[in-house]
Amino acid sequence: MGLRERIYIIEVLRGLRITGAVFFGNMWKWVTFRKGALTTYYPEERRSDYSPNNRGRHVLTQRANGEVQCVSCNLCATACPAYCIEILSHANFADPAHPKAPERFEIDYSRCIFCGFCVEACPEDAIRMVKDIPDLPGFDRTAMWGKMDLLLHWHPITSPRKPYPPAPPRAEAP
Ligand code: SF4
Ligand code: SF4
Repeated sequence: MGLRERIYIIEVLRGLRITGAVFFGNMWKWVTFRKGALTTYYPEERRSDYSPNNRGRHVLTQRANGEVQCVSCNLCATACPAYCIEILSHANFADPAHPKAPERFEIDYSRCIFCGFCVEACPEDAIRMVKDIPDLPGFDRTAMWGKMDLLLHWHPITSPRKPYPPAPPRAEAP
């Protein structure tokens, strides 16, 4: 650190200036009814210009005969740092070259951090990520599981997006 950083107070004041400028800028936009000028009020407001670095969501690839390419080796689930992939496999007697196939392949999007490790770990190119934004917000965590119907859907499914569901009624106090 240089002398200026070592003194600290100058850097603290510089940080306060930046934070204050953003805070008062937002407040000014808010009092002049330009809500959302800097902040997107997700999920009521949705942006279409996501960063190009956004990895999107997962999809499962299929063979020419329509079967899922996945051979249920579980490497993706092992590599997943969030432990959010669950695979239930079954024996595929009809195809000796691929004796196992997933009966159930699910990703818990309430825990997924979209790191892409599962894609890198897959030896079969069976799981990829496509530029799409899963429609995740809701009041029920179980609804955030991405199941086969989502994972086999390659095209953006969130446009037009579903309207945000109304809040459930509050339980009456006893
Ligand atoms: S993107 Fe990362 S966190 Fe999400 S399922 Fe794949 S490995 Fe797990
Ligand atoms: S998606 Fe790939 S890594 Fe995961 S179980 Fe299937 S074949 Fe294995």
